[in-house]
Amino acid sequence: MSELKGIKTVGIVGAGTMGSGIAHVAARAGFAVLLCDIAADALTRAMQTIDRGLSREVNKQRLTEEEKQRVLERIRTTSELTSLSEADFVVEAVVEDVEVKRRVFQQLDEITRPEVVLATNTSSISITKLGAATRRPEKVIGMHFMNPVPIMKLVEIIRGMATAEASFALVKAMAEKLGKRPVEVRDAPGFVSNRVLMPMINEAIFALYEGIGTVEAIDEVMKLGMNHPMGPLQLADFIGLDVCLAIMNVLYEGFKDPKYRPCPLLQQYVDAGWLGLKTGRGFYIYES
Ligand code: NAD
Repeated sequence: MSELKGIKTVGIVGAGTMGSGIAHVAARAGFAVLLCDIAADALTRAMQTIDRGLSREVNKQRLTEEEKQRVLERIRTTSELTSLSEADFVVEAVVEDVEVKRRVFQQLDEITRPEVVLATNTSSISITKLGAATRRPEKVIGMHFMNPVPIMKLVEIIRGMATAEASFALVKAMAEKLGKRPVEVRDAPGFVSNRVLMPMINEAIFALYEGIGTVEAIDEVMKLGMNHPMGPLQLADFIGLDVCLAIMNVLYEGFKDPKYRPCPLLQQYVDAGWLGLKTGRGFYIYES
């Protein structure tokens, strides 16, 4: 894959659910990883999650203990974005907030070498808008991994208005190198994955809100009846209810169509700080 020539260090901004998974697969594929987060505890948790994920691979005999140690040694953590000046390729995975992301892109544009491609793992936000926050919109592109990253095969690749062919080729090659299957889609709110998935989850929350079924009943219907491996409410807990709400708001504002109105119950869960698996409580309760 000649596109990846010269790419040794992958910078990742945001070490939450997704950033930690992306760090895992990038280090596993042999890249040096610089994982950055403003919250020190997020970095500690990310390294614990990656350690646990790699141990599972050792138990399944897909990796030796020595290889696991070498993968871990390839990951360095930092709370200073300026450390990403070393990066040859960057994936941004901070919170789903357009203003926060635009600020991170402006900073990355200052910090990284001008030829470095800046990818975003956004679930729904316009790639064109993020690209316009930099002086290199031709090098800004969507690289949307699925959760949990080490397991899920899909990477949606999204070009902004100005994204260059070379940036697309690089991200496609990178996705394949990480063992993923890239699928190209257009830059529209929610792309394809969340244009289809999130309204379904939101509708499941409406069904709960209106008392049509219990949490368990709604999830059972979709598992047993539609052959979904996981019910929509449990899936929402795994994604993070704050992330689900942010995506619904991007769809609602982006299309100006009331069919994307976030369910008030989703808003209430987020207001209560019941964000799902990551906080121990969402539609279900999770023991630590
Ligand atoms: P998360 O809340 O688990 O993690 C976000 C992290 O970003 C936090 O650790 C936070 O401290 C950090 N952060 C915030 N501002 C920062 C900054 N300025 N610099 C560095 N770090 C900063 O969120 P997540 O679920 O990992 O989502 C991250 C991105 O991935 C979002 O854009 C989301 O839409 C997208 N995404 C999420 C999922 C999912 O299932 N959760 C799936 C695909 C894509």
